[in-house]
Amino acid sequence: MIVTYPFSAVVGLDDLKLALALNAVSPRVGGVLVRGEKGTAKSTIVRALAAQLPSVDVVAGCRFACDPAAPDPGCPDGPHEAGPAGARRPAALVELPVGASEDRLVGSLDMERALTEGVKAFEPGLLAAAHRGVLYVDEVNLLHDHLVDLLLDAAALGTCYVERESVSVRHAARFLLVGTMNPEEGELRPQLLDRFGLTVEVRASRDPDERAEVVRRRLAFDAAPEEFAARWAAEEAALAERIARARARVPGVRLPDARLRQIAAVCAAFEVDGLRADLVTANAAIAHAAWHGRDEVTTEDVRAAARLSLPHRRRRDPFDAPGLDESLLDELLDQTDDDTPDDPTDGGPGVPPNGPPEDGPGPADEPGPGRSNGDGSEPPAGKPRDNAQDGANQSDHHQGSDNAGESDGEVAMVAAPYRVPLLEVPGIGEGVAGRRSRSRTAHGRATGSRRPSGRVRDLHLTATVLAAAPHQAARGRTGPGLVLRDDDLREVVREGREGNLVLFVVDASGSMAARKRMTAVKTAVLSLLLDAYQRRDKVGLVTFRGAGAETALPPTSSVEAGAARLRSLPTGGRTPLAAGLVRAAEVLRVERLRDPARRPLLVLVTDGRATAGGDVDRAAALLAGTASVVVDCESGPVRLGLAVRLASRLRARLVPLDAMADLGSVVRDHRKAV
Ligand SMILES: [Zn+2]
Repeated sequence: MIVTYPFSAVVGLDDLKLALALNAVSPRVGGVLVRGEKGTAKSTIVRALAAQLPSVDVVAGCRFACDPAAPDPGCPDGPHEAGPAGARRPAALVELPVGASEDRLVGSLDMERALTEGVKAFEPGLLAAAHRGVLYVDEVNLLHDHLVDLLLDAAALGTCYVERESVSVRHAARFLLVGTMNPEEGELRPQLLDRFGLTVEVRASRDPDERAEVVRRRLAFDAAPEEFAARWAAEEAALAERIARARARVPGVRLPDARLRQIAAVCAAFEVDGLRADLVTANAAIAHAAWHGRDEVTTEDVRAAARLSLPHRRRRDPFDAPGLDESLLDELLDQTDDDTPDDPTDGGPGVPPNGPPEDGPGPADEPGPGRSNGDGSEPPAGKPRDNAQDGANQSDHHQGSDNAGESDGEVAMVAAPYRVPLLEVPGIGEGVAGRRSRSRTAHGRATGSRRPSGRVRDLHLTATVLAAAPHQAARGRTGPGLVLRDDDLREVVREGREGNLVLFVVDASGSMAARKRMTAVKTAVLSLLLDAYQRRDKVGLVTFRGAGAETALPPTSSVEAGAARLRSLPTGGRTPLAAGLVRAAEVLRVERLRDPARRPLLVLVTDGRATAGGDVDRAAALLAGTASVVVDCESGPVRLGLAVRLASRLRARLVPLDAMADLGSVVRDHRKAV
């Protein structure tokens, strides 16, 4: 048995155990996303606890885990006779590696056999293996877009559908989706985020007592491993039994109308999208009631469910980390808790509340969205989500205390981001899938055919038939199929888009520090960052001011990190432009070693002025051959055109700062018209 999770000192472990238990109790809860920094043993804990899922009955010999009581009528291994015969096995825990191929995930049709023997040979993928079990994705935020789409389709329909050249297979694929991620490495697409029923935040414990307890366990284990394992095994057995009991109880758990309204009120107040949040919260509350041996959902169950089901759903801006204001949740629950939790008789409206709803205008039994509020405390609505406006207000506020920007270390504010023009690396790359520059990819538009280098994955049927056709007579064709030889096979050549490394080099010196200018610069960079997030780029940030240049953000997939650095970026001092270019060249050199297929795009945000250190021409030469864009920040009636000169030296595209927003919308309109 697994006795690993007793060895991790993790804050949020109880939440994680609860979230997994609720999923084990009711599959309708819909999976868990575990967010946490490195070194929190997220995967180990998930694996250990997923082992607690109840076993499943399956049709013997079926590779698609059909339930003998109700076999999938379309099962590729079917048809099966409905009946009791079958085998019992633990629910599957299937791990989807982030770099998996499409075939690995959905399964593959053997096109060679289809063409030469006329048989439909399907090799099931991980989705088939995960049916009625758990599909586990470690580092789910790093999953390729294409796999995410396939996963979303399967999760939404509960089936896996594979089609190649008009041969198709479909089978049931219902699974609990469990993912782990380190948010520092980039966020998840909202659609995928929404697919997880619950989220849990974990981090390594800094509490000496907790850490000591873990060390104590470890020592106990080392001293007497068998005894220790036996103790935990007993605990695990008790857990498995509790899950089984709760599962049996679920169908009988009642969700009173008052609790349902409470759920609706909480979801409305937290401004979540759609009704999915309400459904998940209701199912999780029912599971929680069953878990505690109750036959009716209480406010306590709603609270426990909402804490886990809402944090990731009220997210609007990719720069907002998920989270939930728990005091607001408590406040909302108190307001809508219109009968006493320990009242056994589904409390009529006449029952006097013995709790919180004190002297106010009586118990709130209007089914309102829970916003009205009896007494002094401030209204809960509007608490979540305030970013953009906040930024704008504060920038006004700053202007009030204006005293020119020369002083060192001022922090200019950022306004609301806008859409920017597409900046791409010329030529065709071979980097990871993304949405910026042209590249040869596995999943783009078909542009031609070629001989495969290994096994054919993506058959180009026409080209294959054309290659085989001239030889049919010579090969003595008699049967129904083509006579195919290996070297007839052709695969599709596809072109799509790749993600790039977008390295921002930003002048943060005094020459830019007239504060309005710096706000415009930061807003432009923030807009570009947002764009980079949507295009699946890596981003990095080099700034230069005062004595030299600094790598404010080493290349990362976390746009949040970039946005945070940018917001707090101080400005002022002299302008060591050359130092900025040298630093950029160094960052690119290291990154080229680390991630060679990812092509860089340098975005230099400057007015071209240099008032300190180093020869700009020589520094620019270090960047020869790098695809570059110069965002020209020069303004005012008299212009020196220094950025223009720098751009021509770098062979860079020049985009005036003030034209960025306009260019973005022009490009969009142009695309619409085409
Ligand atoms: Zn089957």
